[in-house]
Amino acid sequence: MPASITLNEIELLDKNDPLADFRSEFVLEDGLVYLDGNSLGPAPKAVFEKIETVMREEWAGGLIRSWNDADWFKLTDILGDRLAACLGAVKGELVVTDSTSINIFKALHAAAGLRPERNVIVAEGAGFPTDLYMLEGALSTLPGYSARLEGVDGDHLVDLIDQSVAVVLVNHVDYKTGRLRDMAAITARAHEKGALVIWDLCHTAGVVPVDLNGSRADFAIGCSYKYLNGGPGAPAFIYVAKQHQAAAKQPLSGWWGHANPFAMQREYQPDASIRKFLCGTQSVLALQAMDVGLEIFERADKHAMRQKSMQLTDLFVALVKEHCGDYGLKLISPEDAAERGSQISFSCEHGYEIMQALIERNVIGDFRAPDILRFGFAPLYVRYADVRDAVFILKDILDTNFWKEPRFSKRSAVT
Ligand SMILES: *Cc1c(COP(=O)(O)O)cnc(C)c1O
Repeated sequence: MPASITLNEIELLDKNDPLADFRSEFVLEDGLVYLDGNSLGPAPKAVFEKIETVMREEWAGGLIRSWNDADWFKLTDILGDRLAACLGAVKGELVVTDSTSINIFKALHAAAGLRPERNVIVAEGAGFPTDLYMLEGALSTLPGYSARLEGVDGDHLVDLIDQSVAVVLVNHVDYKTGRLRDMAAITARAHEKGALVIWDLCHTAGVVPVDLNGSRADFAIGCSYKYLNGGPGAPAFIYVAKQHQAAAKQPLSGWWGHANPFAMQREYQPDASIRKFLCGTQSVLALQAMDVGLEIFERADKHAMRQKSMQLTDLFVALVKEHCGDYGLKLISPEDAAERGSQISFSCEHGYEIMQALIERNVIGDFRAPDILRFGFAPLYVRYADVRDAVFILKDILDTNFWKEPRFSKRSAVT
């Protein structure tokens, strides 16, 4: 990608984009540059009618009958099988349920239980906080276990894996830097040492090709409100490789994971299938909304998505370097697009204020403490022209010191 790309060249890129038509399937107002699909995907236009229909026909009309007649009781599996097919897994290996945090807890316990003679869990010291917090919580319920953290106990995750390690919990893409890990290679290294791996796909599901079976992944979890456009707080997912399902146990033994929930037995008897990873009643409306985002992803060419995502991020980096190079923005994402997910992050002293100024000027990215400006490039709706517009607005904010206006330093609860 040439650094000084012309307006005509940008137009041509958008014109020749095989994914261009997907943008019209989302609600995105004119003039808004949305670079935060890595935090919350936009609303698909089809979701309004879908939810209205579900509410009127299935809830209001069908009432309790809809658990059977509208397949409400099976939505976790129906959506799970469809998502599995997009992530390189097979039917019966994945369910859409609960939140990522809760699924991390289930996966940690299940994986640890499969390696009972070991007591160390390896994770990333700079991983997403909830992953570490859930690990802490899981450790408090696993006497004798301890954590070994990359960046704390050693520099490289794979070097921390030895014969004492039961489980490795690792992000496919790092939420701060956007760095992409090699799923097949890390899984193979862990397996050589006899450990199991839980992959956190929050920043890859829906945007970076994932091949769970091809990578021999043991467990995976992830959310659907980011690149899968499932809606705020949309249900997450958990994948458990077929070969682990018979022996795996998870501690949140609610009735939905029971082999026969409506037998109303006194004792818990886990389902033999992936359904043992369910806990209790799910939000049907949230599952039905997630269906709409998933349906769009199912239709998209995953290879074209990756190609465009790499081009968008390359273009952004090149243009920021060219036009905003004097302002101390430091690229903390890998230079090589093949080594990163679909986001670009810069560290910058006044990152918070600069991001607030960008948002006021209709360029929405986000800020991650302590000093990171984070921009997500979802190839289904971000255009090459958006990348260019974002850079010129950023340049203007920096050139004019607009970000120094006092209102931009006021902190909100969610950044
Ligand atoms: C977004 C994200 C989560 C979110 O967890 P919730 O339980 O949905 O709040 C967890 N882990 C990672 C790596 C994330 O990026």
